[in-house]
Amino acid sequence: MSADPFFDRLLLVWLGLAVLVAPLLFCVRAPYGRYVSTAVGPSLPAKLGWTVMELPAVVVFGYFFVSGDATKTWPMWTFFALWQGHYLHRSLIYPRRQRGGARMPLLVAAAAFSFNLVNGYLNGHYLGTLAGTYPARWALDPRFLGGLLLFTAGAAVNLHSDAVLRRLRRPGETAYRIPHGGLFRWVSCPNYLGELIEWIGFALLTLSPAAAVFALWTAANLVPRALAHHRWYRRHFAEYPTERRAIIPWAL
Ligand code: NDP
Repeated sequence: MSADPFFDRLLLVWLGLAVLVAPLLFCVRAPYGRYVSTAVGPSLPAKLGWTVMELPAVVVFGYFFVSGDATKTWPMWTFFALWQGHYLHRSLIYPRRQRGGARMPLLVAAAAFSFNLVNGYLNGHYLGTLAGTYPARWALDPRFLGGLLLFTAGAAVNLHSDAVLRRLRRPGETAYRIPHGGLFRWVSCPNYLGELIEWIGFALLTLSPAAAVFALWTAANLVPRALAHHRWYRRHFAEYPTERRAIIPWAL
């Protein structure tokens, strides 16, 4: 429990929603990328969609963190830098580099936009105010160091895997090919695995309940989607490597 009853209630609802949405996403694939569908209404260019839907995570988290009451120490500025680095890349750099020119349903962009508003608020408000001041010695705590290591390793895997996918296409191409290299040797979606490791690391290094719920949301979104991608690859490519799993090497 924190000192803010509204935050506590919202976080509980947010946790409940993640638990409800996870099984749903095993049955319904979010209709963007290879599963894009015109049946879900109007769409916008995917690059624009990524920028619009991810920017609230930068702005809302940034606002609540910086304007929050807690005196900011440098471990806290590390939290800020990791979050903002991830989301500035995801909203401004990643979309510009994407190849394919697909469109994204407005519904998907609106859902992700709303998700980032709430998630940005919960994480920014908790770290900027409710958690209080993390002492400078938190930077030497094994949980901070372990979480930082996980976050950094996850980000490296995510960025490398997204780069491998990007290089499968020449500019303007839309075809899908079998990715090879890096963690693609073991799993179909190492970009999702990296993303999940990043947010588990963030939850550990901040010990924030909002970050823990976000890590759960990330699993709820990405594990079902990785299983769907894996099945899709196997259906579309007879020569798809049989030893590859969906998201967890040798396991899932
Ligand atoms: P995908 O792996 O489905 O696609 C990533 C990009 O690579 C897209 O441009 C896609 O094109 C292209 N691509 C994928 N597979 C191939 C292939 N076999 N051959 C050629 N091109 C390919 O990832 P998402 O779009 O779902 O996600 C993008 C990033 O956002 C990831 O890093 C992911 O971790 C992150 N993300 C995070 C979430 C979270 O909850 N934290 C939720 C969703 C995404 P196309 O669009 O045409 O399919």
